[in-house]
Amino acid sequence: MSLVVLHYKELALKGRNRPWFVKLLMQNLRAVLRDLDVVSVKSVMGRLELEVGDSVPWEEVRDRLSRIFGVANFSHACRAPIEFDALAGRILDTLSDRHPASFRVSVRRADKRLPYTSPQIEREVGGLLKQARGWRVDLSQPSLTIHIEMLTDQSFFFFDKEPGAGGLPTGTGGRVACLLSGGIDSPVAAYRMMRRGCSVLFIHFHSYPILSRASQDKVREIARLLTRHQLRSRLLLVPFGDLQQQVVLLCPPELRVVLYRRLMIRIAERLARRWRANTLVTGEVIGQVASQTLENLTTIAAAASMEILRPLVGMDKDEIADQAARIGTLSISNLPDQDCCTLFTPRHPATRARMDQVLAAEQALPVEAMVEAAVSAVTTEEFVFPVLSS
Ligand code: ATP
Ligand code: MG
Repeated sequence: MSLVVLHYKELALKGRNRPWFVKLLMQNLRAVLRDLDVVSVKSVMGRLELEVGDSVPWEEVRDRLSRIFGVANFSHACRAPIEFDALAGRILDTLSDRHPASFRVSVRRADKRLPYTSPQIEREVGGLLKQARGWRVDLSQPSLTIHIEMLTDQSFFFFDKEPGAGGLPTGTGGRVACLLSGGIDSPVAAYRMMRRGCSVLFIHFHSYPILSRASQDKVREIARLLTRHQLRSRLLLVPFGDLQQQVVLLCPPELRVVLYRRLMIRIAERLARRWRANTLVTGEVIGQVASQTLENLTTIAAAASMEILRPLVGMDKDEIADQAARIGTLSISNLPDQDCCTLFTPRHPATRARMDQVLAAEQALPVEAMVEAAVSAVTTEEFVFPVLSS
């Protein structure tokens, strides 16, 4: 049997909602390990304790847990009594083949009623270890830190802390619909919403068969990758090429991009409602490209009656790319594709599309019929993690 102790940080602040946050976090932990031999997941005095069978490789558990939102850090741990001699003995058994150049003991008391303070326990247990093995104590730069957590009638100890994904547990933040292109920005926008506890529905517009299927393949790959965090995803693929052709035929070229975007927003809103999401999310950033001036963002947003969130709005391109690299989406986004927005893009798109011009241009379009047609042609794909082999 193998023990993992997980800590949450932000969750601890959630006052009376805390049991609900913890419950969802525990559900997500069970779900991400559901094909492995999980013996128990328990909440004990402000931390979580997870037990898996001996046969489960720690690397696999570590990899999966590292992507679950709501976890501040976690450790492969051992259980021990709280009596100092027995505790030190258990630590020495576990460390039998390690010879650190120096060490320190770092104690947290989960149960503040214990009759010793943390520094007292550190000195007592540290003294026993030093006596037994002669290791040098170094409080500032030890080569080994022995973490001990004292509970009421048992303790945990561990030597390494793995960073968790942070944020809030999936499911605590409601459902949003993210307009996901194959580009660099929108996958990061989706990730940031997920990290705040939202379940994210993905909506992708493509121009197949006018353009290749490449953007759909990229988006699928991105959805698959992000599903390792939220564990269940739905991707909606919307054929958009016909609509773009109508815009090209009937509207002034410099307004095309803004008109495409307004159509996307209308369609996305319709789809979001159908799948019970009340908010749209995009990867837009002020000033990044001609279509993303403040004026254009406003004109685009005016097509929706739903809130539009833009989690990247104030970020620089390199900050976004760094984050995309960390999440793992950057290399997928960098694959060549033919994004539908590059289709029939004019050489000089309007950087300040005025609302009256846009509305006049839309008079020429059967907007409602276009939205209906796109919505009824949507195809849906489901993703789950882990994928169970049957
Ligand atoms: P990204 O890297 O996310 O594609 P970008 O810098 O290429 O962003 P634009 O192409 O102008 O910027 O897109 C702005 C936003 O509009 C995107 O972040 C995304 O949310 C949405 N969007 C653009 N194209 C599509 C598409 N084909 N399908 C779904 N959403 C899209
Ligand atoms: Mg793009």
